[in-house]
Amino acid sequence: MTIKETVTTQRAFFQTGKTRSVDFRIAQLKKFESAMKANEQLLFDAIFADLKKSRYDTFTSELSLVYRELTFTINNVRKWSKKQRVRTNLLNFPARSYRLAEPRGVTYIAGAWNYPYQLTLLPLVDSLAAGNTAVVKPSEVAPQTSAAMVKMINETFAPEYCCAVEGGSEKAKEILEQKFDHIFFTGGTNVGQIVYEAAAKHMTPVTLELGGKNPAFVLPDCNIATCAKRIVWAKLLNAGQTCVAVDYLLVHSSVEQQLLKEMRSLIEKHYPKNGVSENYMAIVNERHVERIENLIDPKKIYFGGVVDKKNKFVSPTILHNVTFDDEIMKEEIFGPLLPVVRYDDLNEAIANVKKFPKPLSLYVFGSNNGEKERLFSELSFGGGSQNDAVMYFANDHLPFGGVGSSGIGAYHGDEGFKTFSHYKSIMEKGTWLEFWFLKTPPYKEWKLKILRLLIEKL
Ligand code: NAD
Repeated sequence: MTIKETVTTQRAFFQTGKTRSVDFRIAQLKKFESAMKANEQLLFDAIFADLKKSRYDTFTSELSLVYRELTFTINNVRKWSKKQRVRTNLLNFPARSYRLAEPRGVTYIAGAWNYPYQLTLLPLVDSLAAGNTAVVKPSEVAPQTSAAMVKMINETFAPEYCCAVEGGSEKAKEILEQKFDHIFFTGGTNVGQIVYEAAAKHMTPVTLELGGKNPAFVLPDCNIATCAKRIVWAKLLNAGQTCVAVDYLLVHSSVEQQLLKEMRSLIEKHYPKNGVSENYMAIVNERHVERIENLIDPKKIYFGGVVDKKNKFVSPTILHNVTFDDEIMKEEIFGPLLPVVRYDDLNEAIANVKKFPKPLSLYVFGSNNGEKERLFSELSFGGGSQNDAVMYFANDHLPFGGVGSSGIGAYHGDEGFKTFSHYKSIMEKGTWLEFWFLKTPPYKEWKLKILRLLIEKL
């Protein structure tokens, strides 16, 4: 079937109304869960082939999130699908009002390669839960995981309901020529812009989960021992190829040396120095290895800096004495390099961060409430946390998404269901009372007085 035929068939299926039944949706989500369990080995093997990602990392940072979303959604979808009562103002008396979720229709989900499973399958759970049909295209940059997901999805679902296709930018362009009712894209800001333009041609709403340079402030009163652990872990997870990773540190000069030492000792103890291993992932391809290598200024290496292009390995690397003028501060790193920028004046540090496009995440390490509140309220970012990094992503009660060039819209938990739904606002009015005399001519001053009271005060 061509893409055009697939979309036409899915639209026809959607219009039969079958996906509006919550029982149908729950049954499909349970099927999805069984397919994941049955295909776990295939998924583990594929991601190891593409990214050398271990079973441990694959379960903790990919499959477990999809399983959680499935369980949470199966348990809650009935509640989310019910009418949501809202108040009615006196002007509309006698009436009751509510919001009613309806599926958007035919959706398109384009995944990214860095966490190929969760970034493709989690939005798919949300889309199907909301009662849509879906066309899915995993990223071709991780080809084995793409093939594994396409196989699993197409063996599980009928194509008129949910269909996965493989392909790169040409296939993506062909898909984007079709009219969808919602597009969910995860990837870089540049491609996000292309997707947004294509969607505009059909007036299709979008969710864009994009990237950016995520700062982490380290305040003078931070607990170095614990914070160093959390920063190192968050940076080196997935070898730095994480959209919510700490991109760079802004460290108060009074704690800089202590933090640097602590991070180096943790890396020396727990991470490999010379090659990809079961415990440390590869960089996705040679192009990205070269890109990351070019961001390393040898004069600024504090620790690490080993690159092995053949084996797609970049060692955990800390760069110190970095300034906002350095090359590494000009683009999102998306690799295991951690630039440390020293600051003395928080005002100046904030002013520098404001010059960048709005990041996806922002982190604050330290307990000073005044400074923490100031950073969280004064800077604009998608989401973040105090005294930890990355983990807020795994709290399904917190909607996840960016702002400005780091994204549009959000998902995870009930926010995912909302993203893939349209909420109809409905008012049902009683017939036993009618203020006909107030609505109709002649328009007298006393009538206006009553209306003013009703509209302005009550
Ligand atoms: P990318 O933007 O290059 O590619 C992602 C997808 O876009 C692929 O499936 C690809 O087939 C498709 N694509 C490529 N060219 C296209 C075109 N011309 N038209 C339509 N589609 C096209 O992704 P990348 O740069 O390799 O991924 C890294 C970026 O993604 C980083 O910036 C990272 O921060 C971001 N990211 C964000 C999130 C998030 O949840 N916010 C998650 C992961 C990655």
